[in-house]
Amino acid sequence: MADQYLNFATSGLGRSLVKQLGLPAPVTLRRYREGAPLVPGAILVVGSSPLAAELGELLLGWGQEVRTHDAGDAALGAIVAVLDDLESPSGLSAPALTISPALRKLAPGGRVITIARPASNDDAPAVAAARQGVTGLLRSLAHELRDGATGNGIELAEGIGLDAPSAQGALRFLLSGRSAYVDGQFIRVEGTGGALPSNPDRPLAGKVAVVTGAARGIGAAIAKVLHRDGATVVAVDVPAAGDALAKVANEVGGTTLQLDVTAPDAGSKIIEHAQRRHGRLDIVIHNAGITRDKLLVNMDAAKWDSVMAVNLESQLRMNQAFLDAGLPGLRLVSLASTSGIAGNRGQTNYGASKAGVIGMVGASARAFGALGGGINAVAPGFIETEMTAKIPFGTRAAGRLILPSLQQGGLPLDVAEAISFLASDAAGGINGRTLRVCGQSLIGA
Ligand code: NAD
Repeated sequence: MADQYLNFATSGLGRSLVKQLGLPAPVTLRRYREGAPLVPGAILVVGSSPLAAELGELLLGWGQEVRTHDAGDAALGAIVAVLDDLESPSGLSAPALTISPALRKLAPGGRVITIARPASNDDAPAVAAARQGVTGLLRSLAHELRDGATGNGIELAEGIGLDAPSAQGALRFLLSGRSAYVDGQFIRVEGTGGALPSNPDRPLAGKVAVVTGAARGIGAAIAKVLHRDGATVVAVDVPAAGDALAKVANEVGGTTLQLDVTAPDAGSKIIEHAQRRHGRLDIVIHNAGITRDKLLVNMDAAKWDSVMAVNLESQLRMNQAFLDAGLPGLRLVSLASTSGIAGNRGQTNYGASKAGVIGMVGASARAFGALGGGINAVAPGFIETEMTAKIPFGTRAAGRLILPSLQQGGLPLDVAEAISFLASDAAGGINGRTLRVCGQSLIGA
């Protein structure tokens, strides 16, 4: 979406004015383009464990330029720190101080990625302290990065190595422009399931994907990205949105299903449509959602119940239908929200529904996993939509001052990219998790 402030702030005159006035200085983020390099420069691998050596080999195999020492002046496209061998907090010092000077060479849109083991209460306290320390290091560093660079981590559960398809899938996602607005987040890989796509530009080739709430906004962006990535899309929305829905479906060469997701038989209708029209169902994106904001002191039953019905209860019911049908390998992604994590004034109903999604996804993982599939959530933060575009120019610029390092909202496209990754076979070892797409901010809808 065209953004006046971003255009202004990146113009010649705008850049100097923005600097003088101390206004936010957003840059155009590095987003996915077919055929573009995975990263904008060489990759520095930090770490001395066998996994670090394995990573170097892997990246070379992907055709990347890999360095193990930060020599020369050339820009670095990414710094990947392998920290799987931490035994105590003192082990953090060497990698932190190796990353430090390299940061000056990080290219615009660059990436800093940690690969570590998640802390657990079964660890020795010093081990857990060091492992948990990685999250604080990375999240703080992500706040310090500029020029559209981001910092994220991959947590490999005990026994999971870089040969796990989802370890590689998560690494490719985080290195690439697909993760432009994912910042300060950790992707945990707990299984060896899944597979990397034979064509990285068509990771969903041959898949049939249902997107609810596809007539506009984030849902329409999801339909477009899933189609771009190779999927056949079934676009679902309420009959009242029929015209807009047909437009989206035509654009992506998919089919429409006019359906209120709160209908008791919504799940079976979706299965029936996908199988009759396309012969299969591989992916469901639970995107349909509503807000009915009111302070709790002024809340009424209609506002509370409708939000819970659309945003959460419909998903629980549809998921049961999908499980009852035993669809093999079904992958689902639900829309949560940063409001379900940090809370938001006026959104007790919405926050409850979105926190509920996070709980539901965690508790549904085993059942979908048993069928060879999986379920995850994406929690968008401040996403620039038609709604935020109407906020006056000055207010929007001021609002961005409190958005951390990226100094801008995300786009529906950014949410869609994360969803497409989680829906793909490359995320087969990621199950029951929630990934924030929030530019490291907890402000949002
Ligand atoms: P939107 O209002 O622009 O679009 C939602 C779509 O869902 C509409 O087309 C609507 O007709 C459809 N829908 C609503 N109720 C339905 C029902 N009962 N059955 C079928 N379809 C129904 O919203 P959006 O901003 O694109 O948000 C999409 C999702 O992302 C929602 O779940 C929302 O909660 C979540 N989200 C959005 C933001 C944001 O910044 N926009 C942030 C966090 C989370």
